[in-house]
Amino acid sequence: MDVRVKDIRKEFSHLPALENLSLNIRSGELIALLGPSGSGKTTLLRLIAGLESPTRGTIYFGEDDASSKTVQERNIGFVFQHYALFRHMTVLDNVAFGLTIRPAARRPAKAEIRRRALDLLDLVQLSGLEKRYPAQLSGGQRQRVALARAMAVEPNVLLLDEPFGALDAQVRKELRRWLREIHDRTGHTTVFVTHDQDEALELADRVVVMSKGRIEQVGTPDEIYDEPNSPFVYGFIGQSN
Ligand code: ADP
Repeated sequence: MDVRVKDIRKEFSHLPALENLSLNIRSGELIALLGPSGSGKTTLLRLIAGLESPTRGTIYFGEDDASSKTVQERNIGFVFQHYALFRHMTVLDNVAFGLTIRPAARRPAKAEIRRRALDLLDLVQLSGLEKRYPAQLSGGQRQRVALARAMAVEPNVLLLDEPFGALDAQVRKELRRWLREIHDRTGHTTVFVTHDQDEALELADRVVVMSKGRIEQVGTPDEIYDEPNSPFVYGFIGQSN
């Protein structure tokens, strides 16, 4: 689904975390929010999710003003670095969770929920591990389960906040490529937060470079890399060159 962020300002205790921020996310796009710590990436993600309300401005889901919609009504899939799996539940039950807590009228039958969860485990290449518990998985496998769990509700938007941040460099690299493949197969509108320029440039359709609560530049990885439009973007991207 298209998500339009229009003229957003967000203050915490009268201090602006986001200022004058507008961004159009197209349906099916994979967007990376890239910037140093404190630049406002997570705040923007939380506003899209409905976990925070803007001080000013509007967020639209399709044509609809999302202001009055709850997190559930926005139908968001989350993967956060520290948004852990449920330890007492099997992998299968973790993936199925978002469907099992739906109100009865919108909840698929048990067998259907199981089939969907198994299909998703197949998609994230974890078939056969459905009976395991999170403690019996590697860090990379856990984040794959987390992604399957987020996708189970067929979200309007997938929000990924440094999902690979806690993993070692080699696993991060593998998951990066893998996430791009999954995205190409499922086509979810996805917003991915990272402070790692390589990750953003390799993964995203478009990169949004942020600094101090503002957008410095929006462009394809090639545009950002070849034509940085400010000393900040040049310096930030340049760190990896
Ligand atoms: P990033 O994700 O890029 O690291 P954040 O969105 O977490 O940046 O933070 C942006 C700014 O907003 C920072 O100055 C941070 O201290 C502030 N901020 C974020 N969340 C809160 C909060 N709940 N209360 C007060 N200040 C916050």
